[in-house]
Amino acid sequence: MTDPAPLSLPLADEYLGWVSSSAEDSLAAARGGVAALKQHPPTTTVDALRAWNDIHAHLSDTVARGELFSEVHPDAEVRDAAEKASLAGQQLATELGLDTQLYAIFAGLSPDGLDAEATRLLGKVLRDFRRSGVAADEPTRARIKEIRDRLTVLGQTFARTIREGTRSIKVRPEQLAGLPQDWIDAHPAGDDGLVTVTTDYPDAIPFRTFAHDAGARRDLLVAALTIGFPDNVEVLHEIFALRSELAVLLGYDNWPDFDAEVKMIKSGEAIGTFIDKIADAALEPAQRDVGVLLERLRQDRPEATEVEASDAQYYAEVHRREELEVDAQRVRTYFDFGKVRAGLLDVTSRLFGLSYTPVDVPVWHASVTAYDVNTEGGTDLGRIYLDLHPREGKFKHAAQFTLTSGVQGRQVPEGVLVCNFPTGLMEHSDVVTLFHEFGHLVHHLVGGHQPWIEFSGVATEWDFVEAPSQMLEEWAWDPAVLGSFATNADGEPIPADLVERMRKADDFGKGYFARTQMFYAALAYRLHLENPADLVARTKELQEQYSLFPYLEGTCMPTSFGHLDGYTSGYYTYMWSLVIAKDMFSAFDGDDLFAPEVARRYRDTVLAQGGTKDAADLVEEFLGRPYNFDAYAAWLAE
Ligand SMILES: [Zn+2]
Repeated sequence: MTDPAPLSLPLADEYLGWVSSSAEDSLAAARGGVAALKQHPPTTTVDALRAWNDIHAHLSDTVARGELFSEVHPDAEVRDAAEKASLAGQQLATELGLDTQLYAIFAGLSPDGLDAEATRLLGKVLRDFRRSGVAADEPTRARIKEIRDRLTVLGQTFARTIREGTRSIKVRPEQLAGLPQDWIDAHPAGDDGLVTVTTDYPDAIPFRTFAHDAGARRDLLVAALTIGFPDNVEVLHEIFALRSELAVLLGYDNWPDFDAEVKMIKSGEAIGTFIDKIADAALEPAQRDVGVLLERLRQDRPEATEVEASDAQYYAEVHRREELEVDAQRVRTYFDFGKVRAGLLDVTSRLFGLSYTPVDVPVWHASVTAYDVNTEGGTDLGRIYLDLHPREGKFKHAAQFTLTSGVQGRQVPEGVLVCNFPTGLMEHSDVVTLFHEFGHLVHHLVGGHQPWIEFSGVATEWDFVEAPSQMLEEWAWDPAVLGSFATNADGEPIPADLVERMRKADDFGKGYFARTQMFYAALAYRLHLENPADLVARTKELQEQYSLFPYLEGTCMPTSFGHLDGYTSGYYTYMWSLVIAKDMFSAFDGDDLFAPEVARRYRDTVLAQGGTKDAADLVEEFLGRPYNFDAYAAWLAE
């Protein structure tokens, strides 16, 4: 058997046809596999699982590629076709999950003689059928199918409205005071004498951090927090109502219970408890740091009684510059995009024993780069694509997308980083984001060599998935790591003492940051539980309960909160994973983050295992003990 090759992507003018026809072919193959299974049920359990694995791979590729190209392709027509392809894939997946004849075949299989992984797989397949609603009566199954298909369409509408909903404000050139010169140069005034500032990250992050004009900062934040408003309000109400109905039809009390059942956290109620535990632990440091912001703010505006969200980032930066001797404008001169990208590849190569070879293959946009990834022993690990700059109609945040899920002997894993970084100088927060997202990509590739697609790559419980990424962020805060690639225009590396001060400065605000995160987590959880009639009013209440920054009149954060679709009620995932990430990081030697032994052990015991074991067990194998809250609590209290 020859090794599987990466997917050949089409040339630019062939995309439209390819997106549709490759999905049709794949779904036809899946349907063919199902028909064959039903006509001649395999005589052994392993053969039945293999047939299912093949069907699953076809479905999963179709949905993944549809989702990817609906978010990244420059041509709106291709994006539409990709949405349709993804929808068709998800519709077939729903249909199969409700197929009683298919279920009967798997329910009748004996686990006798299966190895541990195949036993685990059979358990998951049966569990997924049950969670799909296959055991319900015919009218209920029909309603479930209707709900799931509708939810897919609503999810696409929600995402499209955000993706195409970039907003902007216009300011007078003098309102750019405080911004870095390279940013100002890149934003000339238009014919009306005004400068357009968009809500896309490369505009918005520097503007909110550096622009002296408080009113303009506020206008830009209000613009960002009204993306998708009001269009997505009705979409969200329908999504929450349908998820709730679906959960009840499947025998659960509510959507968060249904969703949490297959995660580390296990129940909806535990989400609420976890949110409050973190919020409580963060309250004191949060109040202390907001007090510091307010004191400094009053030097500029003596009448101020509270810190607005649009002031937080700006005054945190002022505080870090004036009191902690970290000047973000100086810091960014060390983070030229090209050097950072090269440095990231070099660092992860040393850490995980990987090599990256640039490949000249067709890509969907000229700015996208592709690399083949190998182990140091020369084994093909797969292919990655980096799509790192913003453009119109493209996904607005930062995420890893799957192009292909790896299946040993069948297909190599391929992943895509989709981000929105500037092409010139980056903020250090961008560098951290890049390391974070790359953590997902490494997980997808290193873990993507399982025989069963169910366990391939980032296939652990969904509230663990952020842990490997959050841990990799630590490397973007290390003097030796940054010193290896971050050099300014004169070629001087970023000084170690500056990085040390940056780390200290980063500790500032972690309490109020955690409270803001818990506001988002509470939104995701509560909105799914309650589907409140007045979305804006409930958002405001939860913001007052958790965040230390007041609600901004006229805004509606949930309508652009993309995670409400992907993570549904589980945004707590980020903080849950961070608790585990802090614990896993405690196994590394903080003075030598390049030490290969721990990194390789982590790669092999956690990343390479994909979903073959429960996340808690993988972490326990790596740490030699169960994970706990201690490292996180110590970090928060520091
Ligand atoms: Zn992530």
